[in-house]
Amino acid sequence: MTFATLGLIEPLLRALETLGYQTPTPVQAQAIPAVLAGRDLMAAAQTGTGKTAGFALPLLQLLTMEGPKVAANSARALILCPTRELAEQVHASVAEYAQHLPLTTYAVYGGVSINPQMMKLRKGVDILVATPGRLIDLFRQNALKLNQLQTLVLDEADRMLDLGFSEELANIYRMLPKKRQTLLFSATFSDDIRLLAGQMLNDPLSIQVNPRNVAANTVQQWVVPVDKKRKPELFVHLMRKGRWKQVLVFAKTRNGVDALVDKLQGLGINADGIHGDKPQATRQRALDRFKASEVQILVATDVAARGLDIEDLPLVVNFDLPIVAEDYIHRIGRTGRAGNTGEAISLVCADEVNMLSAIEMLTRQTLTRKMEADFVPEHRVPDTDASGQVVKKPKKPKKPKTSGGGGKRNLGKWVDSGDVAPAEPSIKPVRKVPVFNTGPRKKK
Ligand code: AMP
Repeated sequence: MTFATLGLIEPLLRALETLGYQTPTPVQAQAIPAVLAGRDLMAAAQTGTGKTAGFALPLLQLLTMEGPKVAANSARALILCPTRELAEQVHASVAEYAQHLPLTTYAVYGGVSINPQMMKLRKGVDILVATPGRLIDLFRQNALKLNQLQTLVLDEADRMLDLGFSEELANIYRMLPKKRQTLLFSATFSDDIRLLAGQMLNDPLSIQVNPRNVAANTVQQWVVPVDKKRKPELFVHLMRKGRWKQVLVFAKTRNGVDALVDKLQGLGINADGIHGDKPQATRQRALDRFKASEVQILVATDVAARGLDIEDLPLVVNFDLPIVAEDYIHRIGRTGRAGNTGEAISLVCADEVNMLSAIEMLTRQTLTRKMEADFVPEHRVPDTDASGQVVKKPKKPKKPKTSGGGGKRNLGKWVDSGDVAPAEPSIKPVRKVPVFNTGPRKKK
């Protein structure tokens, strides 16, 4: 199968040729014809499988072939993304695909001045990529009207519809015309989200390219058990032993990111960090430098877990396991992309056993454990498997304890003290199912 047989127009085929895309990925093969036919879509696909082109290519074609010119302060298609970094990345891809088309594209997100965005919107843009908070601000300040909107795309839809974004999404839905095409793309879909999505879409086509909630099989994964306080030391040891070149490291808290970056920089290692407390420009610069291989180790909170596309990233390290098991799939999905292989190593301490168990249950696999000779933990990590079983009573360690021994053993606890960074720090998590206006919709 080729992109031409999917019915894409010549200017798009030319752009794909420049980018070196020869064959459509499975999600593209299914999504492109369906979107071109005007269908609503609910697509589940693994990270790194080409979702962006799956919605962007047919969307660009529809906007080129159909509909009136964009009006002032308007957008004809809206792509909502959960994080600012992802909005930038999606926009960059859309702009590349659109390079030979007479369409305008733009991205808006918080953390930067709103005025240039208002100016840019004056003439209207065909495709607008946005994070929810800034979109609402622009709408409320009359810088953006949505009555011309033909298509809405929710990228990483589970997160978009998930707890933290539910209110913003409910607000945005109220601003949209009833007659529109809606596309949901996501790596993971919980049953609640599927139910909710089902209410919002019009006769949707469901695409399930890979088994649900399974991590990309191009990523080799394992776990190294270790005592919590020795994680930094173990990280440096593994880094030197494995001669790691470029590594994306995930830590649970903002303080954790800063502490590890300080430690690594103190050892003369080329490391930088990104988390929600840092200004947007600093975050973007650190990410750009990492992508350009100018930074060797990038330490991040889950703000970086979703959607980011880093070419040929060989290794992801979970310095801490994520609090939400699904984030594990997103984190390790930063490697093993576009047919490459990758590795994902998790440093796991006894406190994290319930998180480990939840990840194994979600991904339906028991992660291989590899002990590091000099780092065998005093606080044993209880056995786990994909059934969700945790052997609650840790066996006594074989080695007599050499130091302290008074460490806490919080087997049932998931969250350590300290600040936990939400994926999009400007948006408060709300534990509430949104009420969407799902009243009768006009026929397309
Ligand atoms: P995505 O899942 O959209 O983030 O895409 C992951 C990576 O795969 C990106 O670097 C894309 O440029 C690349 N990609 C997407 N579709 C194709 C394709 N059909 N052929 C080759 N590379 C692709």
